[in-house]
Amino acid sequence: MLEIGRTCDCKGGQCGKCCEHVGAVFLDGEEEKVAKTKNMTAEEFEKKFLEHITRFNTTRKKAKQKENGECIFLAKNGLCTIHEVKPLHCQVCHHGPYGEEAHDWFDVHYFVNTNDPNSLREWNIKLNVKPSKVEGVALKDLIGKKVDEILHYEDLQYQGGKKNE
Ligand code: SF4
Repeated sequence: MLEIGRTCDCKGGQCGKCCEHVGAVFLDGEEEKVAKTKNMTAEEFEKKFLEHITRFNTTRKKAKQKENGECIFLAKNGLCTIHEVKPLHCQVCHHGPYGEEAHDWFDVHYFVNTNDPNSLREWNIKLNVKPSKVEGVALKDLIGKKVDEILHYEDLQYQGGKKNE
C-alpha cells in the first residue's frame, strides 16, 4: 500500500496539489528531523509550525495552515520547502490515482486506535458513509469478534432499562 501511495506524480516537490488544503500530519519523531534542517529545537519548531488535529478520537500534530488553507510549508512558487525531509503523510500521496486508498491506509495505521472503542466506532461510521477499497480495514478485520461488543455498547449499557455507570 505504501508503494502504491508513492506512485503520485509529485517529482521533487513540484506538484503541490495535495498541499493546497491540508497541513502535513507529523508522526512521533518526524518534527525533530525537520527542525534540524531549520536549526531549531523540536520545541521551537512545534511552537512555530505545528498545531493539533484529532481524527477518529486520536490527536496528532500537524502543520499549521495559511489563511487560504495551504500547508505552511508550501512556498509561493508551489514547491514544498521541506520536500527532502517531509513526513510520511506527504510521501503517501493523497492526490494521485490511489489517493483515497492512501488516505484510508494512513488513517487506519495512524489514527484509528484498535484499543479505543470510540475510535473504532468513528472509523465504522466513516466506512458506512464512504466505504474503503483498502483490504483489511473493516472493523471485523481490525478487531475480529469484539466487533459486536464495540458496536452495541450502548445497548449493553441500557440492558434491563437501567444504564450501568
Ligand atoms: S509538508 Fe510539503 S508536501 Fe507536505 S503538505 Fe506541506 S507543503 Fe505539501
